[in-house]
Amino acid sequence: MPIEAHYDEIARCNRCGFCQTACPVFRSTGREAGVARGRIALLRAIIEKRIDWSADLEDPLFACLLCGACTAHCFPALPTADLITDARSDYLDRVGRKPLHRLLFDHLLPYPKRLRLAARAAALGKRTGMSNIAKALGLLRFLGRDFPKAEEIVAQFPAQAFRDKVAPGEFPGRGESLRIGYFVGCGVDIMAPVAAEATLRLLQTVGKTVTVLDNGCCGLPALTYGDRKAARRLAAQNLDLLASHSFDLVVTDCSSCASYLKKYPQLFDEGDRRREQAVAFAAKVRDFVEVAAKAERPRTTSSARVVATYHDPCHASRGQKITKDPRDVLRSLPGVEYRELPEADWCCGGAGSYAMGHYDLARQILERKMANVARTGANLLVTSCPACILQLSYGVRLAKLPVRVCHISELCSPAEAGAVCE
Ligand code: SF4
Ligand code: SF4
Repeated sequence: MPIEAHYDEIARCNRCGFCQTACPVFRSTGREAGVARGRIALLRAIIEKRIDWSADLEDPLFACLLCGACTAHCFPALPTADLITDARSDYLDRVGRKPLHRLLFDHLLPYPKRLRLAARAAALGKRTGMSNIAKALGLLRFLGRDFPKAEEIVAQFPAQAFRDKVAPGEFPGRGESLRIGYFVGCGVDIMAPVAAEATLRLLQTVGKTVTVLDNGCCGLPALTYGDRKAARRLAAQNLDLLASHSFDLVVTDCSSCASYLKKYPQLFDEGDRRREQAVAFAAKVRDFVEVAAKAERPRTTSSARVVATYHDPCHASRGQKITKDPRDVLRSLPGVEYRELPEADWCCGGAGSYAMGHYDLARQILERKMANVARTGANLLVTSCPACILQLSYGVRLAKLPVRVCHISELCSPAEAGAVCE
């Protein structure tokens, strides 16, 4: 919806400032423009035409993490993250899309093979030092204002993407009747193939069959950048792919994908045939942790002392209200001592590719997270979103903490939980 359609909702902000306590951006910068109250005031000024649409709005609109933490502290429960997303969409319509977004959303994300090829090129660039030369020459700035610094977040790329190793298709399982579709998120596919393999193993203990899908991007990155058309196109492409299967469940081990796939119906208007398709599809979607919580736990025989803590991805805790399942899983693992992480549901600063445009802010937010991780004394930091895994791994490296970061699936598959820490 255009931002003007939200005027009455925006006008409900009573300027109380309660959102300040929860906003990671505000807590890092102390700037009013960074908190929901300031962002809502900006949107109101735009609608009331006190501010014109121009490139000057890019930073204020795109510096929000879209973590949604402010809404829980807001008496009128203003959905600031959704309002900002709609305003970004208007921004792209009125000020223009960037060539990078066209490349990403129109030519890469819909095509998993092309995306894996691009990742291989990036891996080669990193391994051979070519990316440093390109960085020094300023050739990669089109990837984002802060790309030269943000590039450090990825220490190295895995040698092979999951779907280069495991070809999409049907795999037999040991379950009695469930037919499961495994929706492979782009981040897990390329950056966390070990987690994807562990997910497949766990799903095979639950399903009669597990089909590794050849799906494209779920569309969340396009929507968060305000590109509604690309987001709808990616969703339609995935719905078409799923229409040729009849699964009981569609499971994904990326909490961001899971949260977004469950919201597919909201992308299509009433009366649109896609909406019905999306409603039926969304009812079958499960976050991996929901499945893992009900599955049989692996037996641990390792002697390694595992002290685990858990970071809630925003799209799990606020996007899907999933907080108990991962803790139940971790507390039930033999040989694992679970310790709660202070501010576990605070955004880690990963927020997709946030650091590409706001590296310093992402790093400040990450430092707060790492101070909390250090307080737990844990040697294993567990989560369920690949963007969080990248960001948290970077944080651990920067803070020189003796902590291994992993996806929860790596602990749930029929392998040794202790082995993850060795
Ligand atoms: S969504 Fe997150 S970053 Fe954005 S204003 Fe709300 S709390 Fe702050
Ligand atoms: S908590 Fe809600 S109502 Fe209060 S200032 Fe923040 S956005 Fe406005």
